[in-house]
Amino acid sequence: MIDLASFNIIEKIGSGSYSTVYKAQPKSGLKEYVAVKVVEQARLSARGKDDIVTEIKVMRMLKHKHIVEMKDFKWDASNIYIIMEYCDGGDLSTFIKKRCKLSEKICQKFLQQLALGLQFLRSHSLSHLDLKPQNLLLVTKPKLSLKIGGRCSYSCTQRMVVVKYLNTVVVTDFGFAQFLNDDTQKNSIRGSPLYMAPEMLLNKTYDAKADLWSVGVIAYECLFGKAPYSSGSYEELCIRIRAKAPIVIPDHTRLSEECKDFLRRLLQHDPKSRMNYEDFFQHSFLNLEYVPSE
Ligand code: ADP
Ligand code: MG
Repeated sequence: MIDLASFNIIEKIGSGSYSTVYKAQPKSGLKEYVAVKVVEQARLSARGKDDIVTEIKVMRMLKHKHIVEMKDFKWDASNIYIIMEYCDGGDLSTFIKKRCKLSEKICQKFLQQLALGLQFLRSHSLSHLDLKPQNLLLVTKPKLSLKIGGRCSYSCTQRMVVVKYLNTVVVTDFGFAQFLNDDTQKNSIRGSPLYMAPEMLLNKTYDAKADLWSVGVIAYECLFGKAPYSSGSYEELCIRIRAKAPIVIPDHTRLSEECKDFLRRLLQHDPKSRMNYEDFFQHSFLNLEYVPSE
C-alpha cells in the first residue's frame, strides 16, 4: 500500500484521460528521480481496467534499453501507481514542437532507436498500437570524455572536457499493447486517430503492421513538424483516410532518397502494400546493422 505521501513530488510532468504522471523522489531508499503514473480507479471503465492490467503485465516483462523501465507498481483503494524510470528529456512531441522540425540525421537516430525497441517487442510478438511522439520519451545521458585540442561543445581551455548529451529514445505507455503475429487479425479500435493505421481507423481488421504506419507518421512529424493529416477534425481525417488522400512528401527539403523511400513505404494505406517488418528492420535509412552499441 502506498500513496503519494511516500514520495516527494517534484512536479506534474504529464497527464492523460485517466492518469497523471509526476516526477518524484522516493522518501526512503534510493534517492534517484522516478516518474509515478497515478491512475484513478474511479475514472476507469471496464476496458480502462483491462488496459492498465495489460500495461503493467507488459512493462514487467520487458527489459530493454529502448523500453521504459517499470520499477514497481502498487495500488490502494483509490489509485494504481506505476513507478518508472524518470526520462529527463520529456517526450518527443514536446521536443519536436520546441524545434519545429528535426534534421534528417536526428530523425534517423531517433527512428533507429525506436526500431530497436520495436524489434524487441516483435521478438515477444507484441504490438504497441499507440505509437506516437507523446509515447516516446527521451533520456539525456551525460557523457564525459577528455579531448585535447579538438572541436567540442563546451570548451574550457585548449585541453577540453567534452560534455556530450545523448538523447536515447524509450517507448512507453503500453495500455493498448496486444500480442499480434503478422497473421493475427484484430478489429478493436485503439490509439490516437492521427497516428492510427487506416485499417484500424476504418474499423477493419488489422495486424502487427499497424504499428509500422504509426512509425511512418512519427518519422513524417519529426521531419516536417506535423503529422501528414494533421489539420481538420476527426471526421475530416476519416474522410481523407477513406479517400486514400495521397501523403505529400514536401520536396523543398533536401531529404536523402533512402529517407523518402522509407516514408513512402511505411505510409501505405493498404497494409498489403506497406513495408513488412523484415524490410523495415533492413531498410537502408535505418541502417541498423551499423548502429554503434553504446
Ligand atoms: P497516458 O496513458 O495517460 O497517455 P503516459 O504514460 O503516456 O500516460 O504519460 C503521459 C505523459 O507523461 C507522457 O506523454 C510524457 O509526457 C509524460 N511521462 C510519462 N512517463 C514518463 C517518464 N517515465 N518520464 C518522463 N515523462 C513521462
Ligand atoms: Mg500516452
